[in-house]
Amino acid sequence: KPRLVEDEDGGVIFLSSSYSSSSSGYGYVSIEKQRQRLTVYKYRTAILYLVESHATTIVVGETGSGKTTQIPQFLKEAGWADSGRVIACTQPRRLAVQAVASRVAEEMGVKLGEEVGYTIRFEDISNPDLTRIKFLTDGVLLREMMDDPLLTKYSVIMVDEAHERSISTDIVLGLLKKIQKRRPELRLIISSATIEAKSMSNFFLSSKRRQALEGEELRPRLEPAILSVEGRGFNVQIHYVEDPVRDYVQAAVSTVLLINDKEPPGDILVFLTGQDDIDAAIKLLTEEARSNGKNSSGLIILPLYSGLTRAEQDLIFSPTPKGKRKVVISTNIAETSLTLEGIVYVVDSGFSKQRFYNPISDIENLVVAPISKASARQRAGRAGRLRPGMCYRLYTEEYFLNEMSVQGIPEIQRSNLVSCVIQLKALGIDNILGFDWPASPSPESMIRALEVLFSLGVLDDDAKLTSPVGFQVAEIPLEPMIAKMILSSNELGCSDEIIAIAAVLSIQSIWFSARGAQKELDEAKLRFAAAEGDHVTFLNIYKGFLQSGRSSKWCHKNFINYHAMKKVMEIREQLKRIALRLGIVLKSCETDMQLVRKAVTAGFFANACRLEAYSHGGMYKTIRGSQEVYIHPSSVLFRVNPKCVIYHSLVSTDRQYMRNVISIDPSWLTEVAPHFYQQQRHNPTIH
Ligand code: ADP
Ligand code: MG
Repeated sequence: KPRLVEDEDGGVIFLSSSYSSSSSGYGYVSIEKQRQRLTVYKYRTAILYLVESHATTIVVGETGSGKTTQIPQFLKEAGWADSGRVIACTQPRRLAVQAVASRVAEEMGVKLGEEVGYTIRFEDISNPDLTRIKFLTDGVLLREMMDDPLLTKYSVIMVDEAHERSISTDIVLGLLKKIQKRRPELRLIISSATIEAKSMSNFFLSSKRRQALEGEELRPRLEPAILSVEGRGFNVQIHYVEDPVRDYVQAAVSTVLLINDKEPPGDILVFLTGQDDIDAAIKLLTEEARSNGKNSSGLIILPLYSGLTRAEQDLIFSPTPKGKRKVVISTNIAETSLTLEGIVYVVDSGFSKQRFYNPISDIENLVVAPISKASARQRAGRAGRLRPGMCYRLYTEEYFLNEMSVQGIPEIQRSNLVSCVIQLKALGIDNILGFDWPASPSPESMIRALEVLFSLGVLDDDAKLTSPVGFQVAEIPLEPMIAKMILSSNELGCSDEIIAIAAVLSIQSIWFSARGAQKELDEAKLRFAAAEGDHVTFLNIYKGFLQSGRSSKWCHKNFINYHAMKKVMEIREQLKRIALRLGIVLKSCETDMQLVRKAVTAGFFANACRLEAYSHGGMYKTIRGSQEVYIHPSSVLFRVNPKCVIYHSLVSTDRQYMRNVISIDPSWLTEVAPHFYQQQRHNPTIH
């Protein structure tokens, strides 16, 4: 039995326990048995007691201890979802929301979407009358605050994966702290795998509040409770490489084959960074395993990244058949968000895809960057759930000890803040610099964001949302630049086209990931390629899909991902509904693509670039910041190199590459964003 120990000064409560989560091997046990084996189960009473008596409870516990799947169920069993109330649990990742919601529905024996539901952007599998436990992304929770600023339908909100410090998590935490003041009956649970619990606790406890509420006995205690549910995992033996590896994809593949040859049964989890290197690794592993002969025939190789279909997700979680070995190649979603049973070996590339923003150059991109020591430890920990495991780090011990940073930087300090600022403004928070952040963003980034929003016509001279544009942009659940593009398309008379393009742009990729079929994919792309650029190419594909009668065969023939196209159609329907609500009438510009390009410019003028040199593969510079960028090889404008282009996003590898590019006429820039482009030359300050 865990023991309650109360800490005198802070009201911090620790629970000590000698329990270690030792589920004994494979086998098929009832779901109830599985639940009881989880570390968190032993703390059920303690958790419920703390939530009852404290406004905020911080739960720290090893990944896989049952925080996400069990705590919401405990709360429901204890009555927190009675009389129409709802228990919310947020996740930073969409895929995690779907996976845990379906797991909890299964454990409770209910149909997903009824008692247990989930909401992610563009997908609402919940029922306002029936749903009692709702999983959602923290981004969706932010959106919900726009309609219901005090989130009145929720009795408990569990902010999960707080250690990830995603930008939305931080904003949500700041706002929930405000909401708590107005709704003392609301309970918060902040849960995390590795949090500096004290600092989070301090965040929720300002001395002013402590004084103000002294003597009000009916209220829950305001000092956050900290509960540590760390059950010891099994030992994980760490292996390092002796010399730095040059190609981590190749190194990961070789390591998997080595493990498969030399080590006893047990599944392998490989951490790479994104769909591109995961697909590359799968291709390589499949080839090498084939040529490797008999031993490798038992490998089941599976990718794990966002955008997987249901069926693909189910494969990841299904038990490994006897005599086989599962190899799951994942982004850092498997670091703490999802737990896979059966993993005994972990291969850690040492990298993940991270967002970086430079307010000076005003460039944000996704970069493959080294992980922190905290992440490396989490990754290794995935190997020790079942029995003692092994972790193969594809970096040297010296590097781990001396060069890896201790902790990652909160995303809010390395992101473009345009979306963040508009959301806070829409919630009526005007003094954004003075907002109570768990970690403050840099003033430079803030000023940049205000400047872009001003140029978009979203904020006025007093940095207030403009009417109607500002409010409309805030209402559209897409980044402000896309929202502005949609609004402009209404004026230009091409909303039908632009809404379809916006739907495609909000999907990761509509192409069928072509393992070993790059040439065929390129040929397929040429069939739709438009001289204007990728946006118009997407429009061609969309039209082709409609003409084919939404045929899966047609998709297959053209290397287009049928599931992605179905998703595009769904998103388009939803955007159409939102547009109608905002008074946007669907209108087609038929073949006049100049209007489409102008609408894109009206939203994305800040991403305009001019061609500097045809040599070196066509070097561009951003017009505003003079940063060197190149057209990504996946773009239809690669090697075409128009004089002036606008990009949708940047990815950075050896160079900064523009993804999804459209050619424009530079004179449109001063037309749509005079402040942004004229003032800048002489005086880069803002209004
Ligand atoms: P935590 O949030 O503490 O990391 P979880 O509640 O996510 O832990 O997981 C608890 C257990 O539930 C894990 O051991 C995992 O095996 C199981 N589990 C979670 N999600 C799924 C799923 N989608 N399918 C099968 N098992 C799952
Ligand atoms: Mg979890």
